[in-house]
Amino acid sequence: ATPTALLVGTGRGAQLGILIKGPQVLESTRRVDTIVLDKTGTITTGRMMLSTVDVHECGSSDELLRLAGAAESGSEHPIARAITAGAVSRLGSVPASSAFASEQGLGVQATVDGREVLVGRPSWLVERGFVVPIEMQAVLGTAEALGRTAVMAAWEGQVRGVLTVADTVKPTSAAAIARFRTLGLTPLLVTGDNLAVAQSVAAVCGISDVTAGVLPADKARIIARLQAEGHVVAMVGDGVNDAVALATADLGIAMGSGTDVAIEASDLTLMRSDLLAAADAIRLSRRTLTTIK
Ligand code: ADP
Ligand code: MG
Repeated sequence: ATPTALLVGTGRGAQLGILIKGPQVLESTRRVDTIVLDKTGTITTGRMMLSTVDVHECGSSDELLRLAGAAESGSEHPIARAITAGAVSRLGSVPASSAFASEQGLGVQATVDGREVLVGRPSWLVERGFVVPIEMQAVLGTAEALGRTAVMAAWEGQVRGVLTVADTVKPTSAAAIARFRTLGLTPLLVTGDNLAVAQSVAAVCGISDVTAGVLPADKARIIARLQAEGHVVAMVGDGVNDAVALATADLGIAMGSGTDVAIEASDLTLMRSDLLAAADAIRLSRRTLTTIK
């Protein structure tokens, strides 16, 4: 390989706002035939806003927001930020929390005002023994039908309410997905969020293959299975929950706006947090490779 051609490639890459980890990255871009996309923060802006707050029975929605907002204040997750910001804007502030713990792709737990508060994926709370009240099941159903992400909050043995957040698809995502197809790549959406939300996002941007409700480790397993079937797989993601999958993929691509863990696990980083930059990156490195050969 001629080092100059590589430098041109990485230099042009830098101009386009693409950081390439090393020359070895270029080879895999040529053979990539499948591109796995994370949803939150990758196809969507990840800037979630609190939409609705529903409380069980005679609970107070201010109290729900206060405790959930405090429990989520220790998390960097877009859902957590939306809930804490929503609580602060409505109540002025949230109380301090302690003993914070989070489970990647599932939810958080913290002590607030002496109570052990959990906020997270409804199925996670059910696994931990909480019973979902009937009217909260209805709230969850409505949220999913509207394409909103719903999380439940619980403390002292009871589900206390449901909070929903909404996100928006980035304006360039649909064009980028069309571009991936032109480059010969099959796009797949893989997300930890629920199926209804995932399908509504997929429909907006033209993806027909959707896997929802997965755990962070499943994202990597899905990629390994595709590889075992003979595919060469690129993965685009931004979150801590995407790191293992990004490292497993033949070509890991991180959003520059993403977490450090995701960037470290990747081969390419996009400074423009836009999927069109991922298409540019693949095209550019294929072209650079042609120059070398
Ligand atoms: P994605 O694959 O779309 O990036 P994640 O794997 O980060 O999604 O999250 C999957 C699901 O886990 C969320 O839809 C939510 O139900 C739950 N979850 C993850 N983190 C949190 C959190 N901090 N607070 C509440 N729920 C969470
Ligand atoms: Mg994400």
